Amino acid sequence: MNTVSLDKWLSPKGLLWASVVVACITIALKTLAWHLTDSVGLLSDAMESVVNLASAVFGLMMVTVAAKPPDEDHPYGHHKAEYFSSGFEGILIVVAALGIIWAASHRIFDPQPLEQVGLGLALSVASSALNGLLAWVMFRAAKTHRSIALEADARHLVTDVWTSAGVVLGIALVSYSGWLWLDAVVAIGVALNILKEGWHLIWTASQGLMDEALEPDVQARITAVLQDLSLNRDEEGAPPVKVIHFDHVISRKAGQRRFVDLHMHMPAEWTLGHAASLRGKVERTLMEAVPGLRVTIQLLPNGVEAHMDDPIGSHK
Ligand SMILES: [Zn+2]
Repeated sequence: MNTVSLDKWLSPKGLLWASVVVACITIALKTLAWHLTDSVGLLSDAMESVVNLASAVFGLMMVTVAAKPPDEDHPYGHHKAEYFSSGFEGILIVVAALGIIWAASHRIFDPQPLEQVGLGLALSVASSALNGLLAWVMFRAAKTHRSIALEADARHLVTDVWTSAGVVLGIALVSYSGWLWLDAVVAIGVALNILKEGWHLIWTASQGLMDEALEPDVQARITAVLQDLSLNRDEEGAPPVKVIHFDHVISRKAGQRRFVDLHMHMPAEWTLGHAASLRGKVERTLMEAVPGLRVTIQLLPNGVEAHMDDPIGSHK
């Protein structure tokens, strides 16, 4: 395989397609394992994979929307579409977890014997290996592409692997000890973990929709660049002097896109041409330091402040 087609497959879209295919295989394997063993633990495992399929399809839809270029109705782009995918997936996971807890709590009081345990567990382990491999590839790609849809899917796949590991361990113990109720307890324990994972995804999506600031390390990089640029080194040998200063630096992120707004205060006697060329330098330096950044700089004379936000709801 040459690098071009490999890159294509490692794109968020290619990996989400891979995730759809793997989810279908996993559902088939786990449903078969549940049929063979009649274990409610394996049923919980299979249910999680159905959620995975639905969310991968939804994630694919959202990544297609998020990648659309800006248009007249959405001039800032469609990057926030990824948060819907993450939020929707989180809700699905929570619903699946509650369903498993409901089904398993009935089994505690009415335990059923398990059958063909060895074969069932082998199928479960095989599908986990597949999920684990895909999750590893997706986590790496999610970092590169800063894709929350990919990260959400990879995180879910890891949950799947842990789910299966817990279930396999529990069922092995059931067949060894004969404690039939343990199957249901394992299923509930696993479901509680799925619940936690779902909540995390819903939380992440809500933070993104509320214009969360950039990560602290990215903010620190921006501050460092601005500090460096505010020192004038025009004259040879002279110590650096502060002739401009930056304030009101605020940031936000929208999916893969990052935004920063700031004021650049400068001597009032500067020509517009001089100010504009320095402004361009600030913009370029920031964009080089932080990939995916869009910079908005307001030019102001020293000692003059812009009219800030008009507070909403405070009008008398
Ligand atoms: Zn200012």
